[in-house]
Amino acid sequence: MSAILDVRDLEVAFRTGGFLNRRDVLGVAGVSLEIHPGETFALVGESGSGKTTLARAVNHLQETSAGTVSFEGVRIDRLDRAAMKQVRRRMAMMFQDPIGSLSPRMTVGDLVTEPFRIHGEKVDYKAETERLLALVGLTADFAARFPHQLSGGQARRVGVARTIALNPALIIADEPTAGLDVSVQGEVLNLLNDLRERLGVAMLIITHNLHVVHHVADRMAVMYLGRFVESGPTEEIFRAPAHPYTAALLSANPEPDPDKAQDRIALPAEVPSLLARPSGCEFHTRCPWAQPRCQSDAPEIVDQGSRRVACHFPLAPGATPPAKERTA
Ligand code: ADP
Ligand code: MG
Repeated sequence: MSAILDVRDLEVAFRTGGFLNRRDVLGVAGVSLEIHPGETFALVGESGSGKTTLARAVNHLQETSAGTVSFEGVRIDRLDRAAMKQVRRRMAMMFQDPIGSLSPRMTVGDLVTEPFRIHGEKVDYKAETERLLALVGLTADFAARFPHQLSGGQARRVGVARTIALNPALIIADEPTAGLDVSVQGEVLNLLNDLRERLGVAMLIITHNLHVVHHVADRMAVMYLGRFVESGPTEEIFRAPAHPYTAALLSANPEPDPDKAQDRIALPAEVPSLLARPSGCEFHTRCPWAQPRCQSDAPEIVDQGSRRVACHFPLAPGATPPAKERTA
């Protein structure tokens, strides 16, 4: 089955500094990924790892400096505005802030049908409003409300309704559960799973919450300083992370299941600045398992079965850090 989204060696350079100290930093530093029809792919990593930049580059809201983005077999990273507008019917973006991303003066009915107006599609607005609200689990009387009259979870449902209005083949959702109560987060995730099943839509979900990933994603990638350090099937990665960074992220979000209780792997120090990328393996400054070689040689991304891992010393299942680095 051919990929619906095919990203190859993508780079996004940001220009920083002024006239005398101008330099480019790479927010995305060579990322490749494929998403297949109906598949959910999750992108995880700490804040600042480049997740939003990658999503914006895929949707061509952000200029890219190298690599390609192909969607439904067509290269889209150099398309003009008008052509991109057509692409965005099939590739819908859901933005982070549930309430703030809705125009405050529009009713819910106008908001969920706005995509039809933007694309000049004549439809029965009342019927479409009812259809879309029902799909996201809201009753028809919500159509007359304004965004400030909605809870965070209801606003997110309205955002989802707008996203699916034109029947896209791919939804890109940046932190779909951020800012929501934990109980509501589960509802939103169930809604996304439900829509995936009913509409067959593929999803690229960005999150720093690993519970979200486990709940929704078939495959996932872990991002660090603009690169993928590990990618592969979600279940496999959760069962046995191969990259120390993945292991640390998983141990910082322990499973509620006590049978899976494990030692927490502490990640020392802050994320390095993009202006001062570490030598060798860029994770070595924080890696509890780092060896001398990691300081000098950058690891290639290597296929390991169904996984791709960039590490000189990938972990065996259940590995724990050397004793001196362990915390209780
Ligand atoms: P994430 O979504 O994973 O938190 P972002 O993609 O927002 O990360 O940011 C990745 C990195 O790129 C950060 O270091 C951020 O400061 C930097 N960055 C984002 N946008 C710009 C910009 N317009 N100019 C310069 N640097 C930027
Ligand atoms: Mg972000």
